Amino acid sequence: MHRDLQEVLIPEDKLQARVAELAAEISRDYKGRCVTLIGVLKGCVLFLSDLLQNMNIETNVDFMMLSSYSGAQSTGVVRTILDLKQNIEGKDVLIVEDIVDSGLTMGYMMKNLATRQPRSLEICTLLDKTVCRKTSVPIKYPGFVIPDKFVVGYGLDYNELYRNLPYIGVLKRSALKEEGK
Ligand code: 5GP
Repeated sequence: MHRDLQEVLIPEDKLQARVAELAAEISRDYKGRCVTLIGVLKGCVLFLSDLLQNMNIETNVDFMMLSSYSGAQSTGVVRTILDLKQNIEGKDVLIVEDIVDSGLTMGYMMKNLATRQPRSLEICTLLDKTVCRKTSVPIKYPGFVIPDKFVVGYGLDYNELYRNLPYIGVLKRSALKEEGK
């Protein structure tokens, strides 16, 4: 375990097994269609990569980058930093997110993408902090429900660190201390 962590919340084998299950479920649901996966940068990268490799249907990938976080604190205001390259009108769109916390980011993204008239629009998130929800978000494919703890690893960062860890861990309070956490 990395020395800045207080615990490993989800070990690598459990992560990989659940990602394979999600990929199988999505492949079944979209069988015979092409699904457009929209990854939310940057936290989605490892999850999206593993999900894609486990899917056995036609896929199309694009990315968006949104911002509401600075360090471990949400600013509450969501902004689009990078928009899609593709037109998604008439497409089956599946948002691939690392974690849904308050739900503000996904709420913003769902509203934004719905105006572009996709054929269908669903959400897949690896982690779901259901206890933190401020706005209701319809998550069709949740990976793991987790408690209200600041987590890193498997794509998730703290000030751009720890994305490379192959598991999900909880940071020690001392590693968050500069923000008074
Ligand atoms: P929401 O808008 O749902 O409050 O937050 C969504 C975004 O906040 C996620 O995409 C992620 O970037 C960030 N976030 C929320 N909780 C955590 C956490 O525990 N760890 C990390 N690294 N990022 C988080």
